[in-house]
Amino acid sequence: MAKHIVMLGPPGAGKGTQAKRIAEKLGIPHVSSGDIFRENLRNRTELGRMAEEYINRGELVPDDVTIAMIRDRLSRPDCRDGVVLDGFPRTPAQAAALDTILQEVAGAQVDIVPCIRVPESVLVERLTGRRSCPRGHVYHLKFNPPAEPGKCDHDGLELFQREDDTRETVTHRIQVYNQQTQPLIEYYEKRGVLVNINGDQPIENVSAELFAALAQV
Ligand code: ADP
Ligand code: AMP
Repeated sequence: MAKHIVMLGPPGAGKGTQAKRIAEKLGIPHVSSGDIFRENLRNRTELGRMAEEYINRGELVPDDVTIAMIRDRLSRPDCRDGVVLDGFPRTPAQAAALDTILQEVAGAQVDIVPCIRVPESVLVERLTGRRSCPRGHVYHLKFNPPAEPGKCDHDGLELFQREDDTRETVTHRIQVYNQQTQPLIEYYEKRGVLVNINGDQPIENVSAELFAALAQV
């Protein structure tokens, strides 16, 4: 089964939701660039302070900073045998950097890029109703509520609403995706590693489609 996996798709497509499931099933780390930024923000690190203005405006953090952060994370031994990347790469420069990093740290390459497709009209409702756990688990008030309101089912931590999940910022983030990240679809398509997944169906069905695709590689 594929081990170096890049989740692609617009904000709200369900990348984080599905990445957590894949990571658990395959026993590989889930590396979310957004989660790492948010952890740095909470801990008021230099990286967090630097990234904050971009994140809250719904802009991309500059490539050099983001690439250095991911290089550092992928260099850790737990990523050697596989990883599910979520939110990285987001620009052509990041995609090129990822190829180099994977080769350097693991002698590996991107095996498969599931691209989760969801109509734009669905994304806003998904994102404005999202509730997040500090450890990266995500819920939705309507589509995927936690068993106990406001609490993570997995670790009992208090759920929060992301500052960039407001209607205004969400709309901008979708535009940023269309302009800066969408070109990656063609990049990975040309390599023959892109697989389209219908994300506009219940979470379980998306997972079933995804695991079937992963099993082919
Ligand atoms: P991404 O990581 O792509 O931004 P998330 O996995 O955080 O997306 O999902 C965005 C929101 O949509 C969350 O609130 C999540 O619970 C919800 N969600 C994810 N997948 C589905 C789905 N298939 N149907 C309905 N809601 C979903
Ligand atoms: P996400 O959690 O993936 O929705 O990301 C939240 C925010 O973090 C984005 O809107 C960006 O500001 C920033 N971010 C996350 N990943 C990247 C990346 N690969 N490149 C640039 N900025 C990123």
